[in-house]
Amino acid sequence: MSRRVAAAGALASCLLAGMAMAAAEPLFENSVVSNNIDFIIASDPAVPGCLRDLGQTTQEMAGALDTDELMASDVYTFEVAFADQSQVGLWVHPSVGTREDAEELAALLVGPLGRLPAVMRQRLSHVVVHSGDHTAFAEHLGHFFAVYADNLQKRIATHDLEETVFHESVHATLDAQWAESAEWRQAQAADGAFITAYAAEVPVGEDLAESALFAFTYLRHPERLPPEVVRGVERIMPARLSFFETIFGAPEPNVTGVEPPEDCLAP
Ligand SMILES: [Zn+2]
Repeated sequence: MSRRVAAAGALASCLLAGMAMAAAEPLFENSVVSNNIDFIIASDPAVPGCLRDLGQTTQEMAGALDTDELMASDVYTFEVAFADQSQVGLWVHPSVGTREDAEELAALLVGPLGRLPAVMRQRLSHVVVHSGDHTAFAEHLGHFFAVYADNLQKRIATHDLEETVFHESVHATLDAQWAESAEWRQAQAADGAFITAYAAEVPVGEDLAESALFAFTYLRHPERLPPEVVRGVERIMPARLSFFETIFGAPEPNVTGVEPPEDCLAP
């Protein structure tokens, strides 16, 4: 979700059987929760990250459900230093409970962040973690996204956490540069169709993030997409695929054999 648009994606599922009938129709309602494709898998290799506790600090915690206050004090503040030199802050609201509860939540994000393409992880500033259950959202200019503790657990249960982190990270790291760029607009126009209904509804705010997940998997792990989805991606978004090839085709840092320092909290 992009904060520019508060639209919640409808959860109606789309039958694959209907896809062949209408060539230019979106394949799914949305990319993350309206299908059972495991685009990114929790056992995929991740750039190792070292989680460190920076104590309790005052931070800007956008997205609080119970207050309009932007600033919060006593925020459990962590930082992950990744082996490719990228660093991502994890700011956990004190309402989640104890420091141990906060560390547990922060630790859940280390792996998914380590599995992002380097180009995205290196641009991500921080993640805000709130208590409660709400859909994640991102701020494209602030280069951060926010998740909610109960929703995080739900997404883990449905194997959608990796995809949620990826989707929000696209907003937080690629939207500002690309979502309204001439290159992206040309690709959208050349394709003339959308991969999900959510992307079609919000072409400026959501199409890049929705399309990115399909493109990333198509380029890195095409075998994870059912054959009819591969054909759908090739039919609906060939120009966007070329666009993403230049972004996701960048070489990943070689961190083979790099072990996190021993004083890390996680992993
Ligand atoms: Zn989005």
